[in-house]
Amino acid sequence: MPPLIFRKGLDLKQEVAGTLAESYHSELIAAIKDNGYQYRAGRLTVHLAREFGFCYGVDRAVDYAYQARKRFPDRPVVLTGEIIHNPHVNAQLRAQGIRFLSDPGESIDALTPDDVVILPAFGITIELLQQLETQGCTMVDTTCGSVLNVWKNVRRYTAEGLTSIIHGKFWHEETRATASQAASGGGHYLVVLDRAEAAAACEYIRQGGNARDFLAQFERAVSPGFDPDLHLQRLGCANQTTMLSSESLAIAEMVRDAVRARFGEADLDLRFRSFDTICSATQDRQDAVAALLDERPLDLMIVIGGYNSSNTCNLARICESRVPTFHIAEPVGLMSSSEIRHKPVGGTGERISTGWLPDSGPVSVGLTSGASTPDNLVDIVIRRLDAFANLGESG
Ligand code: SF4
Repeated sequence: MPPLIFRKGLDLKQEVAGTLAESYHSELIAAIKDNGYQYRAGRLTVHLAREFGFCYGVDRAVDYAYQARKRFPDRPVVLTGEIIHNPHVNAQLRAQGIRFLSDPGESIDALTPDDVVILPAFGITIELLQQLETQGCTMVDTTCGSVLNVWKNVRRYTAEGLTSIIHGKFWHEETRATASQAASGGGHYLVVLDRAEAAAACEYIRQGGNARDFLAQFERAVSPGFDPDLHLQRLGCANQTTMLSSESLAIAEMVRDAVRARFGEADLDLRFRSFDTICSATQDRQDAVAALLDERPLDLMIVIGGYNSSNTCNLARICESRVPTFHIAEPVGLMSSSEIRHKPVGGTGERISTGWLPDSGPVSVGLTSGASTPDNLVDIVIRRLDAFANLGESG
């Protein structure tokens, strides 16, 4: 019998709505939205970006996970990895008894038809899906529609004989899943992380180069059997849904220019395609934070979200170029009125900085959060800001 796959929920939306609201909703945030996205208390004013927090894809994924738990109370429910990149949400799911295949001691090979496996919002590779099917697991697929749209585009590139150039992180689950779609049916892909990597690829497109050096540079970011002399001649651009939108657009332009320079204007339609596959939630959050920075001077910006959350890191990048910015993973990152635990933008590790909050006079703080951060965490951050700014509490 083919395995059972739930793709549209499990008809228990109403039954889990109360638990979800209790776990992730915030009355304070709802009130702040009603008040023009501003919170004032004493010398503190907090300005919230007009779009922040849980996106439609994450909302749906978390909802389905809770529905799965309710529908199968007596069966093991497991996630292939983090359902989304937020430590608080993942801890809540663990508290529901949901296991994570990425945890020590867990193994996909040990799964049986009794297991209910939740596929995350950013999707899984074709190979992993096939293995789960072979093992007969029941699946709850929460892959976001915006990710499915990227897959549709790269599959079309492959069908047309184009190589997919994917602006993304080759190690990120979503990009690995997208790459597997591009490679299905013998297609090829190249993943570029940023403008610098795109420039290296464009250099090769324009005038060729040393294939061995190229493959060494992109060792883990190309499809099996990738030959830059063969597979950089007809190209289609796509991107991980959560990249910096301006960078994705710039990279597509760079590739277009390189193809034009090498093969001429007349061949461009045959040899180049591009679809901006940044999802609308990512775009809206990036636009909203840019608008917030344009609207008024801010003393600092706080960005909340998992350190491995791509969309959160990109929000922090946008802010950092304009105002002192602190990317914190959890409210406890605001340690005291003098200390903050955060990840420096573009850095890898966490650090504790001092003197993050002006110690006298009015203070204006901008606030946003990534697509995997629930409102109740933003709520706690605002309460801590209030306490530190107005009472000088040491936390
Ligand atoms: S960030 Fe975008 S693609 Fe990812 S889950 Fe949210 S809406 Fe979907």
